[in-house]
Amino acid sequence: MATADVLKPDFATRRSHFIFNDDHDQLRESIRRFVIKELQPHAEEWEESTFPDWVFERMGELGFLGLDKPVQYGGQGGDYYTTLVLAEELVHAHCGGLGMGIAVQTDMTIPPILKFGTEEQKQEWAVPAIAGRRILCLGITEPDAGSDVAGIKTRAVYDEPTDEYVINGSKTFITNGHRAHAIVLVTKTDPDAGYDGFTLFLVPMDSPGVIREKRLQKLGMHASDTALLAFQDVRVPQSAVLGQVGKGFYHIMWELQGERLIGAAGSVAGAQHVFDRTLAYAKERTAFGRAIGHFQAIRHKFAEMATKIETARQMVYATAWRFQNGEYPVREITMAKLYAARIAVEVADECIQIHGGNGYMKEYGIERSWRDLRLNRIGAGSDEIMLEVIGRSYGL
Ligand SMILES: Cc1cc2nc3c(=O)[nH]c(=O)nc-3n(C[C@H](O)[C@H](O)[C@H](O)COP(=O)(O)OP(=O)(O)OC[C@H]3O[C@@H](n4cnc5c(N)ncnc54)[C@H](O)[C@@H]3O)c2cc1C
Repeated sequence: MATADVLKPDFATRRSHFIFNDDHDQLRESIRRFVIKELQPHAEEWEESTFPDWVFERMGELGFLGLDKPVQYGGQGGDYYTTLVLAEELVHAHCGGLGMGIAVQTDMTIPPILKFGTEEQKQEWAVPAIAGRRILCLGITEPDAGSDVAGIKTRAVYDEPTDEYVINGSKTFITNGHRAHAIVLVTKTDPDAGYDGFTLFLVPMDSPGVIREKRLQKLGMHASDTALLAFQDVRVPQSAVLGQVGKGFYHIMWELQGERLIGAAGSVAGAQHVFDRTLAYAKERTAFGRAIGHFQAIRHKFAEMATKIETARQMVYATAWRFQNGEYPVREITMAKLYAARIAVEVADECIQIHGGNGYMKEYGIERSWRDLRLNRIGAGSDEIMLEVIGRSYGL
């Protein structure tokens, strides 16, 4: 009889998930090298100042803002997984706000322009945005309407004599709002038409009547800029309509799926990053004559965290696979976003605990991870809204 080799558990398996191939692995390495060399050294400084605009230019130059975008618009023509790799590797910048500002460009504003825009709009905005020469922001949320997107009040009224639209309203919490050259703006063009009364516009931020009112101060994500914006009689031509008049609600719901999936990937990567740093700490920090990681109570915390992170990662990758293969898996995207954001906050919180008093100190950067990750349960749709979407998907 054949004698089987003795099988030993391999806890250090390095094989990447089946969605990634060698090209993805190489891309991952080159992004990581760039992030660690050119971005990470500025992490502390950018917490105070927000990250500078040259990051867009540099990343555009390296092709990182258009990894999954068509070659004809200056992109690299890669699959969806390439943008996932970028979102994951940006955590090595130690700067959550930077990852968010970049994701607004790559996964929230360029995609709707490429999907719904005219050829002129793609040339005018998507091409320079992919090259990093223009910065974009997305305006959905208003002071009186966030979760309830249908409750927005920003109006765009068609003015027949001039053949223009006149926009009035305000938007808040807008990432990149201070630095952006243009905004993808959600408006109501027909308040009586329900979901068929919304229209998206591409509005240059230097248009007369666009006011960058306030730089908002936040709990975390300090490296990103967050704006309160006002629109006072802003006039734009018909050519500024993005997609179809009256279909803006559906267009923005499509956009939100990509935003949520990339947000989920960012949550998993953020959780893994804080886990890794804490694991190293737990192996070095001693109490009662041994490394704290060797106390069963602490060891089990790592076991719990690792299991949650791996579960969330598998959800994100399996959903990304569906997305890449032409499905529109709204339920799964919503579940992945909900679960990944929740576990990321739990993990960061537990990592503060494992660090003890040092976890509460700025010096260790763990409290910053917690503050940055805390946003993920609110932004791009809160936990409660995710639960609504999932619950309703069962016909309830
Ligand atoms: C740092 C940051 C950056 C952001 N960037 C952008 C951006 O670039 N562009 C943009 O447009 N927006 C942006 N947002 C806005 C973000 O998407 C909203 O904050 C989010 O959608 C929640 O909306 P809200 O803050 O108005 O909360 P609200 O809608 O007022 O909700 C308050 C609470 O009520 C709960 N709630 C609301 N409705 C229900 C319901 N039906 N059932 C149960 N509970 C409910 C919510 O879950 C939440 O807990 C950003 C926010 C932050 C904080």
